[in-house]
Amino acid sequence: MSNNNRLRIAIQKSGRLSKDCQALLKQLGVKLNLREQRLIAHSTNMPIDVLRVRDDDIPGLVMDGVCDLGIVGENVLEEAQAERVRNEQFAEVTKLSKLDFGFCRLALAWPQELGLQEKAWFNGKRIATTYPEILKQYLKRENIDASVVMLTGSVEVAPRAGLADAICDLVSTGATLEANGLMQGDTILESNACLIQNAALTDQSKLALIDKLMPRLKGVKQAKE
Ligand code: ATP
Ligand code: ZN
Repeated sequence: MSNNNRLRIAIQKSGRLSKDCQALLKQLGVKLNLREQRLIAHSTNMPIDVLRVRDDDIPGLVMDGVCDLGIVGENVLEEAQAERVRNEQFAEVTKLSKLDFGFCRLALAWPQELGLQEKAWFNGKRIATTYPEILKQYLKRENIDASVVMLTGSVEVAPRAGLADAICDLVSTGATLEANGLMQGDTILESNACLIQNAALTDQSKLALIDKLMPRLKGVKQAKE
């Protein structure tokens, strides 16, 4: 539904995925004139526009066809899809490829001084997270009756601040948990960045361009192995 025939790709403006996204586009041969504050960057050698937004906006932009492609963490994608499904909104995207960056896991953690805990310990507890939908699905699956406290940031300080008993947060090295006196428990989701496409895309010239880019992406991934 984009209003012109240039392929629109949404990437994170600034954050953990931005550098890798920019590097990937370059490796795919997409030449961009990225100016710091611009929302849209036009490719100078292909009919491609790159939209630079918050990662949380990327699934919705692609689901609604505002952008044709997007690069986003599976954690953000799954949360957005679950939220849309709950609200009975369109939640489909086509996952074209997993990418080899943005690795992290969504894991439970609680204050170290409590020591090892069984799943049953979470019954009646409050768990702070930025991923309420993914966490609720997990709690349901595991038959745990805990309440979910939604925080958009600083989740790791929630137990110390008395806002929650435990957290469910993104972890890569575990250093942040350790620095906050938390110990890591079950992993709820393993995630990396992925390339998604609007599920209703029918524009033939855009599909042809994607077909041209995909073998290049495969080549880039193989070269790294
Ligand atoms: P934005 O301003 O775009 O909303 P953000 O603060 O939500 O940014 P970042 O911290 O930049 O997001 O993380 C973007 C994505 O990078 C995460 O959603 C996740 O997929 C991935 N990621 C990889 N490692 C980590 C980590 N250790 N902590 C958080 N995210 C990570
Ligand atoms: Zn975000």
